Amino acid sequence: MKELELIVFGVWAVLVIGSICFFFGSKNAKLKQRVLPWFIAGVGTLFTFVVLFFSGQPDILLIVVPAVILIGYLNIRMTKFCESCGATVINQAWFTKFRYCSHCAAEFCATASGQPDNAAIDGENNHCMR
Ligand SMILES: [Zn+2]
Repeated sequence: MKELELIVFGVWAVLVIGSICFFFGSKNAKLKQRVLPWFIAGVGTLFTFVVLFFSGQPDILLIVVPAVILIGYLNIRMTKFCESCGATVINQAWFTKFRYCSHCAAEFCATASGQPDNAAIDGENNHCMR
């Protein structure tokens, strides 16, 4: 059991360090945008199985699964990748939209020339569709 816990801890540490290196080291916004939902789904699934395995209680999934889905959803919603400078920007203010990159101040949903990309902005709730 002790050995297994060490393996799980090791895999988790590699995932955390690897994801920090990738999401904050890479400047490829498009690639990061594509990888993020899969990464969050994968980590959420892994976390759920780890909790189930170590607790041995299927009932715990009634709490863990909705929590993992909610946290994953919030993570995807609060993380943006700047197409201008490639930075990973995490919205610290929950439930408010963020429109500008905190690294280079470029507007999200802007075209290459810096103008707002109206084709990508949902007029109803002013939400960027990209
Ligand atoms: Zn930027």
